[in-house]
Amino acid sequence: MNETLTLALSKGRIFKETLPLLAAAGIRPTEDPATSRKLILATNQPQVKLVVVRATDVPTYVEHGAADLGVAGKDVLMEHEGDNLYEPLDLGIARCRMMVAGRPDQPVPGRRRRIATKYVHSTRRHFAAKGEQVEIIKLYGSMELAPLVGLADAIVDLVDTGNTLRANGLEPLEHIADISSRLVVNKASLKIKTAAVQALVAKLEAAVEETRACSD
Ligand code: AMP
Repeated sequence: MNETLTLALSKGRIFKETLPLLAAAGIRPTEDPATSRKLILATNQPQVKLVVVRATDVPTYVEHGAADLGVAGKDVLMEHEGDNLYEPLDLGIARCRMMVAGRPDQPVPGRRRRIATKYVHSTRRHFAAKGEQVEIIKLYGSMELAPLVGLADAIVDLVDTGNTLRANGLEPLEHIADISSRLVVNKASLKIKTAAVQALVAKLEAAVEETRACSD
């Protein structure tokens, strides 16, 4: 029973914080992902390989079965439309909050509020649940700039320390969701490679538990 498993990861914070969990599960990339330009990385376990993709593409690779498993931020999963994914494990890494933020002194405009964000679906759901109609302006980055130049009345973005908001004269106004990275699994992979997938999920779960116990 030597089924191969492919795990999709994005470079940066998620990769860095997933590596110790993988190591605790006995999986180590044979090359340093920080310096390698390779997009497919072998590991010390011949049947496990890693693919390096853009964070927002992780659910797509896993959903289509190009990767059996993946690690994706809850923010990315909340934006992803599709239901071919299981989300069996909260890895407890890359934690932050999705918040509405704006200027503390911003007067309520006599029209629909304009909200700038790259999280269009999450933003729509949040304001619909409150019964507030807003105009959503899609941006791909530097959301904090939008209220400063009159593009938007408020933004929806991820907040960790709050330093980025503060540096731009903004403050968190409404909490939308607690965010962390999740393990996602392709539904067909779970059916076809049940033993291998379940064994890896169980090992990662144990690693997460251990990390939690150490930080308590
Ligand atoms: P901070 O200044 O610590 O509140 O961090 C806010 C900036 O970092 C914003 O630009 C966020 O989009 C980004 N950020 C914070 N936490 C995360 C995370 N877990 N994943 C991705 N981006 C994040």
